[in-house]
Amino acid sequence: MDVMEKYLKAIEENVCSICVDSNENGKCTLTDKEVCAVQYFLPEIVSVIHSSNPDDLQECYQRLKEIVCVNCRAQTDSGYCYLREDSNCSLDRYFMLIIETIQKVDAGKI
Ligand code: SF4
Ligand code: SF4
Repeated sequence: MDVMEKYLKAIEENVCSICVDSNENGKCTLTDKEVCAVQYFLPEIVSVIHSSNPDDLQECYQRLKEIVCVNCRAQTDSGYCYLREDSNCSLDRYFMLIIETIQKVDAGKI
C-alpha cells in the first residue's frame, strides 16, 4: 500500500465512518456530481498539514482553505461556495478529525 493509500484508508475509517454523508457501513453516498474536498484534495491536505506548525491550527486551516478552495469546483470564480454557505463542506466539518487522523498515521498509531 503506498503512503497516500494509507492516509485514504485512515480517512475512510475515521472520518467517512462518522460523516453525515456516509451510509451505515461508512461508505460515502455522494454522487460524481457532488464534491467532497477531503477526498479530492487529500494529497494537498496531507502536504499542508505536514508543512504547518502543529501548534497553530488556525494558520493550518487558513492555508488549507487557500490552497484547496481555489481549485475546488464547488467554488465559483467570484469565490462563492454553496457548501461553505450551508456549513456543509466536509473539510470544514471534520477539520480537527482530519488533522488527528493524518497525525496518527504519521505516528504509526493507525
Ligand atoms: S463526503 Fe467526504 S468525508 Fe463524507 S463520507 Fe464522503 S468521502 Fe467521506
Ligand atoms: S469550502 Fe467549498 S470550495 Fe472550499 S473546499 Fe469546501 S466545498 Fe470546496
